[in-house]
Amino acid sequence: TYKSSEQIRQSFLDFFREKGHEIVPSAPLVPQNDPTLLFTNAGMNQFKDVFLGTGSRPYKRAADTQKCLRVSGKHNDLEEVGHDTYHHTFFEMLGNWSFGDYFKREAIRWAWELLVERWGLDPDRLYATVHEGDEALGLEPDIEAAELWKTETSIDPTHIKFCPTKDNFWMMGDTGPCGPCSEIHIDLRPEEERRRLPGIALVNAGDPRVMEIWNLVFIQYNALPDGRLEPLKAKHVDTGMGLERIVAVLQGKTSNYDTDLFAPLLERAAQLSPREDVRGYDDLRIADDRERERVRVALRVVADHIRAIAFAIADGVVPGPAGRGYVIRRLLRRAVRYGYQILAFREPFLYQLVEPLAHKMGRVFPEVERHRTYIERVIRAEEESFLATLGTGLAFFERLIPYLKATAEGQPLEVVRTELLRDGPALDLLEKAYGTTDRQAAVAAFLKSAAEKNVPGELAFLLHDTYGFPVDLTQLMAREEGLGVDMAQYEALMHRQRERARAASTFGIAGLPADEEAAGWQRISDGEDSVFVGYDTTRVD
Ligand code: ATP
Ligand code: MG
Ligand code: MG
Ligand code: MG
Repeated sequence: TYKSSEQIRQSFLDFFREKGHEIVPSAPLVPQNDPTLLFTNAGMNQFKDVFLGTGSRPYKRAADTQKCLRVSGKHNDLEEVGHDTYHHTFFEMLGNWSFGDYFKREAIRWAWELLVERWGLDPDRLYATVHEGDEALGLEPDIEAAELWKTETSIDPTHIKFCPTKDNFWMMGDTGPCGPCSEIHIDLRPEEERRRLPGIALVNAGDPRVMEIWNLVFIQYNALPDGRLEPLKAKHVDTGMGLERIVAVLQGKTSNYDTDLFAPLLERAAQLSPREDVRGYDDLRIADDRERERVRVALRVVADHIRAIAFAIADGVVPGPAGRGYVIRRLLRRAVRYGYQILAFREPFLYQLVEPLAHKMGRVFPEVERHRTYIERVIRAEEESFLATLGTGLAFFERLIPYLKATAEGQPLEVVRTELLRDGPALDLLEKAYGTTDRQAAVAAFLKSAAEKNVPGELAFLLHDTYGFPVDLTQLMAREEGLGVDMAQYEALMHRQRERARAASTFGIAGLPADEEAAGWQRISDGEDSVFVGYDTTRVD
């Protein structure tokens, strides 16, 4: 049996070594020669040049476990993290590759052999998807893959599902090597529920209990900037399986956080929390269901984010105001906010999780242990600087939120206005946010935003500018209250500030570095309410 994550990781590598694969090291989280990518988001990144035919390796088959980060660009899972139990910011992607060597047949046969014969997964719970074709892209349905599933494996033929491009055509970014894929999903629901509703209906339907575990990509194209697909000279295989997910499956868990990969981090965070009722991730003395879940989410976010933060710093990223550094700073501030508001931390705590992390991962990824003191020092300094303003910023936010919520929940604006005009401290804050002493005008502007169920852009700007709240953090806090953020106004204010800083520096006055905020204000995720300017297009060097 395969018990620990260490054994499971190793058994994947051993399996592919037996099939003639060279075991290669993980590439760093910061891509080495790829300006289109902010962070490594898949195992294939380091082989991009081989797929494109511009580079080569001394082997035709490779396998590894790759450190991945999905918090920017085309693959951004940040909103899910902590709320669901199987999307992480940082995760390990186990992969095997063929560079112009074997193709679909072997990829499918070996994936099945590993899952069913070696690891003993129940074939009745497994599903395979194949690409249904795409007229716009000029692609036929992948009948070949569907047939191979039937001839090469013992899968129940009714467990093969044709799915659209959204799920079954894999691209690392807007351009680059890509192709149709075939994915393996596992149905973790209890027997009786499975009898009532066959899992095939739930594949790729957002039910966390029917989870994607492995993606087999058949790389045959290069996506060009104009959207056309250019056929590659050779056909390649690129697979990716989330280690955290397969470990959960093999350890009989329904949540990745219940595995040995996260346990030491969750336990340490719970122990460190000053809250008396937080004894352990599985030992919460909290009667209220919603509050208990809130605490569990906070612990999961903290345990997730520390991995991303520590590994990024180990690979040379320094938290800062722009580019990659700002992505990491935002993750860190997000974790600190959860820790402060929900787990009652008032002192730096995140840095204390580096030790259990280094201990857990040290044998496979020695970089965290090697740089541990440095990583701890950087994280601690970042925590201290944010904690200096976090409390005041939160108090600010919390003072004004009830008025926005009252409006959103249907209170007449007149009623809200009357109450607001009686609340001296709230009025002081509004004056500050709107930069005016004209209270009536500030209240009117505030209520206009309230009517749109939005936190005013002025408030988001002030929180950013004075209290160091990345705007995606303000958006998250707003969302928790059922509100949005007026991003158009926020961005207008950011733009104005940059213009002012640029003008100031032209005159030799020490202003903000002109591009300091340029990357910073771009949103971490693409919401529906504003145009997303992808990190993948940000110049970083
Ligand atoms: P999902 O549909 O669950 O978001 P995906 O299709 O985006 O996954 P792929 O790009 O196909 O994922 O990546 C290959 C594998 O990596 C997935 O099958 C999954 O096991 C794992 N994986 C992807 N994203 C994450 C994540 N955010 N956290 C943990 N594992 C992940
Ligand atoms: Mg995804
Ligand atoms: Mg998917
Ligand atoms: Mg996938």
